[in-house]
Amino acid sequence: MPNRFVYYFGNGHADGGREDKALLGGKGANLAEMTRIGIPVPPGFTITTEVCRLYLRDQRYPEGITQQVADSVRRLESDSGKTLGGARAPLLVSVRSGGAVSMPGMMDTILNLGLNDVSAEALARESRDARFAYDSYRRFVQMYGEVVMGVPGRAFEQRLSALKQERGVEQDTDLTADDLRGLVAGFRDLVREHSGERFPEDPEEQLWGAIEAVFRSWNAERAIAYRRVHGIPDYMGTAVSVVAMAYGNMGSDSGTGVAFTRNPSTGEREFFGEFLVNAQGEDVVAGIRTPLSIDQMAAKLPAAFEQLLVVQAKLEQHFREMQDLEFTVERGRLYLLQTRTGKRTARAAVRTAVDMVAEGLIDRAEAVRRIDPKQLDQLLHPRLDPTANVHVFVTGLPASPGAASGRVVFDPDVAATRAADGEPVILVREETSPDDFHGMVAARAVVTARGGMTSHAAVVARGMGKCCVVGASGLVFDHDGTSCAASDVTISEGEWVTVDGTTGRVLLGEVATVEPVLGDEFHLLMSWADELRTMKVRANADTPADAAAAREFGAEGIGLCRTEHMFFEGDRIQVMREMILAETSAARRAALDRLLPMQRADFEGIFRAMDGFPVTVRLVDPPLHEFLPRTPEEIEQFATKAAVSPALVTRMVEKHRESNPMLGHRGVRLSITYPEIAEMQARAIFEAAAAVAADGIRVHPEIMVPLVADANELAIQRKAIVRIADEILGPDGGAITYLIGTMIELPRAALLAGEIAQHAEFFSFGTNDLTQTTFGISRDDAATFLPRYIELGIIQDDPFQVLDRAGVGQLVQMATWEGRRRRSDLKVGICGEHGGEPSSVAFFYETGLDYVSCSPFRVPIARLAAAQAALSNGGSTRSVAEKRVHRAESRDAEESLVRPAKPALKS
Ligand code: ADP
Ligand code: MG
Ligand code: MG
Repeated sequence: MPNRFVYYFGNGHADGGREDKALLGGKGANLAEMTRIGIPVPPGFTITTEVCRLYLRDQRYPEGITQQVADSVRRLESDSGKTLGGARAPLLVSVRSGGAVSMPGMMDTILNLGLNDVSAEALARESRDARFAYDSYRRFVQMYGEVVMGVPGRAFEQRLSALKQERGVEQDTDLTADDLRGLVAGFRDLVREHSGERFPEDPEEQLWGAIEAVFRSWNAERAIAYRRVHGIPDYMGTAVSVVAMAYGNMGSDSGTGVAFTRNPSTGEREFFGEFLVNAQGEDVVAGIRTPLSIDQMAAKLPAAFEQLLVVQAKLEQHFREMQDLEFTVERGRLYLLQTRTGKRTARAAVRTAVDMVAEGLIDRAEAVRRIDPKQLDQLLHPRLDPTANVHVFVTGLPASPGAASGRVVFDPDVAATRAADGEPVILVREETSPDDFHGMVAARAVVTARGGMTSHAAVVARGMGKCCVVGASGLVFDHDGTSCAASDVTISEGEWVTVDGTTGRVLLGEVATVEPVLGDEFHLLMSWADELRTMKVRANADTPADAAAAREFGAEGIGLCRTEHMFFEGDRIQVMREMILAETSAARRAALDRLLPMQRADFEGIFRAMDGFPVTVRLVDPPLHEFLPRTPEEIEQFATKAAVSPALVTRMVEKHRESNPMLGHRGVRLSITYPEIAEMQARAIFEAAAAVAADGIRVHPEIMVPLVADANELAIQRKAIVRIADEILGPDGGAITYLIGTMIELPRAALLAGEIAQHAEFFSFGTNDLTQTTFGISRDDAATFLPRYIELGIIQDDPFQVLDRAGVGQLVQMATWEGRRRRSDLKVGICGEHGGEPSSVAFFYETGLDYVSCSPFRVPIARLAAAQAALSNGGSTRSVAEKRVHRAESRDAEESLVRPAKPALKS
């Protein structure tokens, strides 16, 4: 028996159903499902996605399909009592695209197929409505001409507008049958002019032309772009559904509309939608006439409206999910043409999920499963007021979501001073470096002209939950640093702009924003997620304020407290620089003695905010030159304050310069060569711990040594830290339990994890650096080639955003297993950016990590993702390694189906 390529639905029976989305596409599967459960749907059939894959690969159809389509057409004719293209009772069909995952409006659909001069006459005669018949005909020629024969849609539109103007009418519904008949002829001339071919009369030929066009539309540029953005794989292909037409353009007792079973922007339980009388297909969405709200349908088409209310309730009950439906009323009779899960805002998603649990439609686990963790971002940041008028200044990449207004400044120091005076500032830079951090902290939003989604500015801003646009390449800075321009507009320091990090736009002036409201439903949903997950979620937080924010978002501790940022604040940088430039150990200690109380105060604040939860403090990490003055003015300033000569300072700065600082004198290497620094930090931590413990705070410090490559490095550090702890807290830490551990961020550390675990009570994967060192790619330089790699499919995702499971992930697994083999109670977590990225979180869960740590704003995302990982793992016994093999195999299989077709497709 040949393969089955065509699935029929009609007359209350369907070959497939909702479970066949991969094969029939979402649209085809749900048309079949609706038919099965007795919803009025016009009959039709669906050609499978497999045919699309085969056709795109081989450039021809698989054997047997012509017959199967012909058989289905005959069946459709007999079910509808009409004949395709007939001179009597003509059957018209729509030819519709639809993949497994919906891509609204991205591919093509052709309506009223089967019309030619003969069937059009028949339609006019039998419907006693020539206007309707020729309206359908001109729509068909237009759509077919555009989609199949490549005539620009605008050409048809122009001719239609010209005719309306000539007749002095506004709406296309005001044109007469004769007008429309003339328009059909005119449209066919257009087709001949543009394509050099005559418009096909034969319905069979029309049908195959349309089917082929739909398959090809899978690889249309906009469809490919849409799939890129939404992470939909290219190999899936589209199905084609051929559906008997329901006519919404048969006069005032007909119409068409779209509706949602609940409000898609608020989630409220109210039937929501729009419709148009005497209209067809996309008229509602295309904005040809202003549609009416769905309530008005009650007055215009009361019987059909009543029926629609029943149908929508039935659909929601059946699918247990908010539905987005398309319907058409033909002379008072209701037909459903599509139903699918409704797209909605994050707020509506949370609201409907929680409501549906209360209504008994779904359980809590299902509610948690349904929310896209990435979408939560929308809820956690202020947004532009959607009703505001905006003027775009320049556009870049949407690096970190949210919206903020403020006065433009170009210098981080100026940003810091102005912000300290209470002024809202927006930092606009060519690009940012770690030196600019204080300016970024002070600014409400950051804009850079250069860099990509993983540039310094982007990463740091996301980490802080600060709105950010990068790569706004239209920006030109003037020489003296007081203004910048884009297109014709120049903005001087102090002028207002508004940054929309969600879309990547920088807007002129102050545009209103709306604050996020998390609401009861959000908290309820998150509490369910917390019950379901087993992996803990911590936050990366460097200041008491961040720590407090992290608690608000539900963090269960701090997984990464970077101590170096503390050295940049206020006067500290001067002391820090004196310490670094000191030529003797004694001078260095003197400077460190001044830093000690400052660090201690920071730690006290953080410990208090995290009462009862662990706090992982990382000892100093970046190369020292990052703290040093750069410009001659900075050197001058520093030298004056420190009472030394600028020449000396310049010499010392030179001495610290490294050609590759990322791989240079940093991390534990600093503590080995300048033990005083780490000792001061350990002292600050333990003194702070003792002080807050005395106030009844439950404090659990975890001291983390960065950039370890060898067990001996850690052994030395450990000894020094324990000595200080004993001195301050008494033997064995007295009443305070603390841990000493390390970051695993070098491949060598992962390889030797067993040995390292002898000296470590915990591991924390620094996956940012581990990704850099595993790939040998510096994150700050990746923007020039990584996007191209992704475009070419060499790698699937940016490894700095989505953990590279195959490489970096392997190191993470190995180090976890080896470490635990040596020390069974080894605590293992991760503190890179990946800790807040849902698919990476799933991987860490599968690997058996105790916790993930991410920026405070991502904590809710990680909590939800961890719950979903726990849910999807229920019952699965397959090991991660097995899964990886399986994934690779299925990917190979998929690729062999699709790859060869690509070059041939450019038509
Ligand atoms: P999209 O995926 O872009 O929504 P559809 O295939 O759903 O494309 O069709 C486009 C429009 O044509 C929709 O408004 C749909 O309701 C309408 N339509 C499709 N098939 C028919 C049909 N057989 N009868 C009437 N209208 C139809
Ligand atoms: Mg549709
Ligand atoms: Mg690191």
